[in-house]
Amino acid sequence: MLNKRTIALTLILSFLLLPLASAQPVDDETRARIRKEGMEHSQIMKTMHMLSDVYGPRLTGSPNHKRAAEWTIKQMQEWGFENGHLEPWDFKHPGWLNERLTAHIISPVKDALVAEALAWTPSTRGTVRAKAYQILIPQRPTSEVLAAALEKEKGNVRGRIVLAGRHRVVPVNLTPAPKRTEDRVIERRFDPDARPSPSPSPSPSPDPKILNARQIERQVDEFLKTNRALVRVNDAAREHGQIRAFNNRTFDVTKVIPTVVMRNEDYGRISRLLADGSEVILEFNIVNRVYPEGKTSYNAIAEIPGTDKADEVIMLGGHLDSWHAATGATDNAIGCAIMMEAARILKALGLKPRRTVRVALWSGEEQGLLGSQAYVKERFGSFENPKPGYDKFGGYFNIDSGTGRIRGASVFGPPETAKILRDILKHFKDDGVAGAIATRSRRTGGTDSTSFNQAGLPGIGLNQDSIEYGSHTWHTNLDTYERILEDDVKKAAIVVATAVYELATRDELLPRFSRENMPAPPPAPTPSEGEP
Ligand SMILES: [Zn+2]
Repeated sequence: MLNKRTIALTLILSFLLLPLASAQPVDDETRARIRKEGMEHSQIMKTMHMLSDVYGPRLTGSPNHKRAAEWTIKQMQEWGFENGHLEPWDFKHPGWLNERLTAHIISPVKDALVAEALAWTPSTRGTVRAKAYQILIPQRPTSEVLAAALEKEKGNVRGRIVLAGRHRVVPVNLTPAPKRTEDRVIERRFDPDARPSPSPSPSPSPDPKILNARQIERQVDEFLKTNRALVRVNDAAREHGQIRAFNNRTFDVTKVIPTVVMRNEDYGRISRLLADGSEVILEFNIVNRVYPEGKTSYNAIAEIPGTDKADEVIMLGGHLDSWHAATGATDNAIGCAIMMEAARILKALGLKPRRTVRVALWSGEEQGLLGSQAYVKERFGSFENPKPGYDKFGGYFNIDSGTGRIRGASVFGPPETAKILRDILKHFKDDGVAGAIATRSRRTGGTDSTSFNQAGLPGIGLNQDSIEYGSHTWHTNLDTYERILEDDVKKAAIVVATAVYELATRDELLPRFSRENMPAPPPAPTPSEGEP
């Protein structure tokens, strides 16, 4: 029971705390200051230079990724953030880097070829020169059909450089998608009252006997390894020299032969020469390196401690790891640079968020959201199995769709949650931000905000103009610094800084689903899911 003195003391204390509490909502003047700092003193392009030119590519487990993560911590500490550290999680696979790759056609014509190594594949033994041989892989095969087709090739691949599969004809695209989403489209997408577009009829469940791409790849890899082919060459199958090189999915260099993805134009040329009946001689020199210490990977974390609600946390972040064919600028150095900048703006202006603002730069995203999954599990648990931090969590903003300006937000939670975000974002209508909608989906996919959604926490995915993301840069050898639109990314940081500050300063945390309304967690994924 309280005595009179305690009541008096409490009253005085709450009176003293009043000016802090009245710091919300964020006023026009604060919004203007955030905009000015973000437009006039932006550090985004400097951060981009470091993350892409100096440390890229940043494949999970690689020394490049670790050095980039260490640099972000050092930089955020210089800006005055606290508690900067790398938080380890168990990747279980070694790191891998390509150091050198040369590819040439030697006969019947001499020329350089364009290719990228597949990650977690081995080096050639120095320079290897051999006849090219193309194997055709049957369409939608069962295991038996594929085995029979490969059996016929058994005597043909030893000591050869093998083109695995038919050349894909990539038609000229006469109707490319617009680089910016039209206003009327984006407004409908983020209109909470819009009738949902009819969901596509469920695709018929696949015949379990038909192999998926991963199973075909493994069976062909085993065949080439057993029958001692020298190099495997895959068709990039994309236009304009674009190459998407992912990984040997066993992550074990001893299970496969040296493998490259070759640009469609070179792969086509060699295929046509072979079809003429010409003898084609190719030459490769590939140096890849494996790093056992990469089995532990790291999320980079730093924060601006809060004031009277410091035990509650608002997070913002993106994944720092990238694929390896370029320097991972739009996927996703830029997401990291924007989120670091958003928090920097708050710090530089001396704004005092009441809740702790925490930046998280994940690794392992490209291998299945591994870093953010590990972090959420460790720090927050889930709705069904909460940790002490679960109730103190106030939202996680994520950027991972390239360089385009922000057009809207999708938040996991009841409709009231989206309404609060809409009220915050309405001040950015002139910058093209349409609003926010709520999602009930706890399925993971796409990017790290869904690791929070899956746990029943308010993950906030930011939607962006695609610019050249889907058409050119996403996971390709063209994903470089040059593709960043500086004006768009500055504005993105300003939107995020304002929204984070608002959530970190308002009286209440974002509303969540009640116990009765919380959607059920999705079923555990089957091993065939999670294609990159
Ligand atoms: Zn990404």
